[in-house]
Amino acid sequence: MNFDKCPNCGKAVKGFFSTATLISENKTEFINKHLDLKSQGYCNFCSSDYLNQLAKSFRQQKNDLENRLKQIIHYIPILSSPAPNDWKYDILDMLTAQTTSGTGFTTELSRSFNDFFGGTSNTTNKKISDATNLCKTDLRIQCVKMGGNAIISTDIDFNEIGSGSTNMLMVCMAGTAIKVLDMNMFNSKNSDYILEVVEITEKIDAIAEMPK
Ligand SMILES: [Zn+2]
Repeated sequence: MNFDKCPNCGKAVKGFFSTATLISENKTEFINKHLDLKSQGYCNFCSSDYLNQLAKSFRQQKNDLENRLKQIIHYIPILSSPAPNDWKYDILDMLTAQTTSGTGFTTELSRSFNDFFGGTSNTTNKKISDATNLCKTDLRIQCVKMGGNAIISTDIDFNEIGSGSTNMLMVCMAGTAIKVLDMNMFNSKNSDYILEVVEITEKIDAIAEMPK
């Protein structure tokens, strides 16, 4: 859509003397949905009151929103393969995430064996899987924030940094954020959760962007 004037307040958004710019379509939808408005667009001037009003109301639910997001964020699919052939999607951007954590095991062979096969193996494994999960969550949040709903062609790398007993484990992940255009490609339960993740992320974003 192309406007000369802000469809909501009428400020000029084109031309040499205009200081107003239209906000993104995503944000426009967000304002219309939650305030029950119908404007086709808003500029940076008239949208700020609406966004503040929304941020204020969402701020009271911030903890609930964050807890709910933690529970359902894993419904954003992460595939190690390319997208299935029947998916229609837009490619958004490449994503990367990394976490570093101390594993506390040494590289000495005997100690390593003890660690991997002995009593402490569970701790090490848990640290590795925690670090992996953190990376996945990070990728998912980045993906949703840029308007995506799935990550494809994901690659994971494990690296040891340092030596001796101060070893750290670094987990790196890279993938491609996509927006699957037809939500019917997901089963109905998953697509409900994915839409909820997107909505919660928009709300948390609105709170974060609110001027203090
Ligand atoms: Zn306006």
